[in-house]
Amino acid sequence: MKEFKKISKSGSLSIPIKLRREYGINSGDAVYIEPFEGGGFKVRPYVDKCCLCSSTENVKYVLGKGICLDCAEKAVKLFKEAELDE
Ligand SMILES: [Zn+2]
Repeated sequence: MKEFKKISKSGSLSIPIKLRREYGINSGDAVYIEPFEGGGFKVRPYVDKCCLCSSTENVKYVLGKGICLDCAEKAVKLFKEAELDE
């Protein structure tokens, strides 16, 4: 998705509603602004805890949600066990 946007006099940038809905970003939410490899920067939702267990340790951003390493490993284990059952 490419969309042309202008920065306001105060430095604000609006995020298209389609992206806000897709990534669960609401008015007042915090976001990260990070340098992007190859130039420019990226904006992503601020994630401070796991959406499954609320842990704040080893949390990564995946498709708009925060998930911790423990929950990710549990999910992978469940998928692998399900594959073996088939
Ligand atoms: Zn978790």
